[in-house]
Amino acid sequence: MASLRHWDHYKNNMYFTRIDESDYAVKPMNCPGSMLVYKRKMHSYRDLPVRMAERGLVHRHELSGTLHGLMRVRCFTQDDAHIFMTPEQIEDEILGVIRLIDDFYGTFGFAYSVELSTRPDEFMGRIEDWDLAERKLASALARAGKEYAVNPGDGAFYGPKIDFHLKDCLGRSWQCGTIQLDFQMPERFELEYVGSDGGRHRPVMIHRVVFGSIERFIAILIEHTAGALPLWLAPDQVAVLPLTERHLEYAETVHTALLAAGFRSELDRRNEKIGWKIREAQKRKVPYMLILGDQERENSTVSVRSRAAGDLGSMTMEALTVKLRQEAESRMK
Ligand code: ZN
Repeated sequence: MASLRHWDHYKNNMYFTRIDESDYAVKPMNCPGSMLVYKRKMHSYRDLPVRMAERGLVHRHELSGTLHGLMRVRCFTQDDAHIFMTPEQIEDEILGVIRLIDDFYGTFGFAYSVELSTRPDEFMGRIEDWDLAERKLASALARAGKEYAVNPGDGAFYGPKIDFHLKDCLGRSWQCGTIQLDFQMPERFELEYVGSDGGRHRPVMIHRVVFGSIERFIAILIEHTAGALPLWLAPDQVAVLPLTERHLEYAETVHTALLAAGFRSELDRRNEKIGWKIREAQKRKVPYMLILGDQERENSTVSVRSRAAGDLGSMTMEALTVKLRQEAESRMK
């Protein structure tokens, strides 16, 4: 099994270069870096678990024919973390990650399914470690109350894993989150901690991502919402649309007040017809449009148009701010 190494596994997908007569490669994964950070000092069992998070940019030379929008790219950002722990801590740590992933996906309103992948035919390490790891993953899933499917033999060669698949509005399933247990890499990198017995021990590690690839997650989110992102996520939350140039000054006041209240407001200063401005904001799926004419300026109000519900009538700035804040904070879909 000596040939089953990460290097052999990854080198066909890596980018290489030569600088000052030395070979360099662009990293395809964040794990070795995390391991070197762990190794910078000696750890006691009292320090564990050590949880190290990183938004890591990785490069993988995928075949050009497989590239697909933001879904599959050659350079992407993982919301990665590596957890180093004692064998006794495995189950609680996995449970913590399952709950974190549940919380994240719930926030975005995604349904998801879970799969547990077990020991493949070619694997590294001892069968007892694999059996223990698979039991811990299953029991953490049971404690979290999650139903899951088992993929026998579908684990990575260095450890079993739990995959999370998101369902989008078209019913398509996308693999995003992963919890990967790994007994091998700590061995290869000779990671240690001092146990309660004073002796040196090998930590176990978890690789985990929640979004997986942030680029892919954003792609799924855009597909799922057809671009109509909820208020809390919309890049432009409010479009301020003065009826004519005469109303620009009042529009500036409204726009500045929204920015000061912490909203992402955009002021349309162009000298275009109001119907055109509304259509454009609607096409860009801005959640709220404020139309400002003589009446609004005189009464210090705003005329509110919702992307989803159409005309909402006139409101004071105070009422509008309260409404927007409630909607954004509740993270309504
Ligand atoms: Zn990793």
